[in-house]
Amino acid sequence: MTTSPIHAYLTDLHARHALNASGNVADYIPELAYANPEWFGICIATRDGVVYEAGDTRQPFTIQSASKPLTYGLALADCGEDAVLRKVGVEPSGDAFNAISLQPQTGAPLNPLINAGAIATCGLVRGESADEKLGRILETFGRYAGRELDVDERVYASESATGHRNRAIGWMLRGFGILSDEPTATLETYFHQCAIRVTCRDLAIMGATLANGGVNPVTGERAIDAAYVDHVLSVMATCGMYDFSGEWLYQTGLPAKSGVGGGILAVQPARLGIGVFSPRLDEHGNSARGIAVCRELAADLGLHLFDVSGRPAPAIRMATTRRSVASSRRRPPEAADHLRAFGSRLRLYHAQGSLVFASVEPLIRDIMERAESADCFILNLKSVESLDGATARLLAQTHSTLEPLGKSLLFSEASTWWESLIAAGAPRSAFFADDDFALEYGENGLLERRFPGRTWDTPATLAECALFAGFDADALATLDRMLEHRNYGPGQTMIAAGHSSNELFVILRGSAMVSIPTRNGVTRLAAFAPGMSFGEIAFIDRAPRTANVTAIDAVACRVLTHEMLSRLEREASLLKIRLLENVALGMTSLIRQADAELAALR
Ligand code: GLU
Repeated sequence: MTTSPIHAYLTDLHARHALNASGNVADYIPELAYANPEWFGICIATRDGVVYEAGDTRQPFTIQSASKPLTYGLALADCGEDAVLRKVGVEPSGDAFNAISLQPQTGAPLNPLINAGAIATCGLVRGESADEKLGRILETFGRYAGRELDVDERVYASESATGHRNRAIGWMLRGFGILSDEPTATLETYFHQCAIRVTCRDLAIMGATLANGGVNPVTGERAIDAAYVDHVLSVMATCGMYDFSGEWLYQTGLPAKSGVGGGILAVQPARLGIGVFSPRLDEHGNSARGIAVCRELAADLGLHLFDVSGRPAPAIRMATTRRSVASSRRRPPEAADHLRAFGSRLRLYHAQGSLVFASVEPLIRDIMERAESADCFILNLKSVESLDGATARLLAQTHSTLEPLGKSLLFSEASTWWESLIAAGAPRSAFFADDDFALEYGENGLLERRFPGRTWDTPATLAECALFAGFDADALATLDRMLEHRNYGPGQTMIAAGHSSNELFVILRGSAMVSIPTRNGVTRLAAFAPGMSFGEIAFIDRAPRTANVTAIDAVACRVLTHEMLSRLEREASLLKIRLLENVALGMTSLIRQADAELAALR
């Protein structure tokens, strides 16, 4: 397999930064000093679970402070936002990681990513015993990483034996009532948490999990409730890099957390997770190569959170009207003429991508600007990737704003977005399986406005059928004797796909539908009412039928076969010519319609 240019880019980035030997391996936790200073890995994981790696991406090391945001997420899920905020703030401290930054009045640590805040957060994790708490932390981190993780017992023991400063912080937190129990057990949980063994690849996938709204994109498992992801990313953005956090955000624009083991976990929200590992630390305690690599990655790949050059994809992929795109219900001439003339009063939009306020606002603006000149708006949601709560509310409100004006906003192919729109107040009656049914509904509305109370499916006489246009009474009588009279019950098959047949149908009563089987049932291609004919194509070219035709209700029809046509040629050749002219006319108008739709869809 040829190397992806992304992989080649990472390899090159790795080779260049491997020359950087600045900084020193942490040794205040004695066991950390055994790390090989040359270890160096870079890894990017995408939101859809593709992983690119260069260097020592599978080398285990201890997660250290990169654990803190993940445990913060767990505490939020365990206790709820309010309870957590009462104990731990969200203000950047600007101090070093081990500073004792507590709120002077309450004693609450300024944020959950300095040691004081992280120890307090550990105290909030649910669990009857220290073992249970650690078990839950390990399990959660494992979900983020997509594999079972364990503790480096030597690093744990080493920190536990020397972590006097953290113990002092623990006792202060106890003094202020931020920790409700004697702090020893919580401190041990904290030391264990920091000694969890991960790889650079794990950090990238953890980041991708946050980027993906809390679901690990490789395993599909949820690691954290979506509701807390933005809280976790916020503290990472403002407090993640010790007393370098402001400068870091300024330069890279990536929420991130580093650890003294040499790891950096960075996130481009909704896009990527990045893991970098190199044990030599700079004066702030951040991996020196890690910082340089992330800075270059952010600049090269345009990852900065506040980069406004890439505008989001517009929500409207296509906007058209009934002039170009019609439902497959064939209409009698008078109805068809009216729909052609007033087709611009029926508008169809295809939405795409992530529907958020900024992308959906132009769509809503367009609808409101046309609320006078149009009667019905159809919004197809098939290509929508996400739809947030605000969008669901705005769309439901657009529907209810239009309703009193006698106008409608309909949703087609809403699939999974159906529920949030209903929850936001959109009525069930506004949803349609596909554009065809929504368009038909909208067309019926246009017809109802123009011809109130009129029913279109009344039985037709032969003279009213387009196929027999221009035939006099004698000719019609001749034909009626010759044509086969046939009836079908509701749901009965009139034409079966794959079969060959030489029959052309003219409906006099009832209606019929052309459909093809699809993944989720059947798709309607056309619906016919009295006076219309179908089956011309296979009748002319004699190839097998390409779709099914079934009676919708009780159908009475006339059937023309090739044998009859030959007889007509012998007995009344002019009638045959006339008839075939009418067939050609009918097909021509269908081709025109199809051309217009194709042009609109392009
Ligand atoms: N376990 C380390 C400590 O508390 C974590 C420090 C860090 O990675 O910032 O000192």
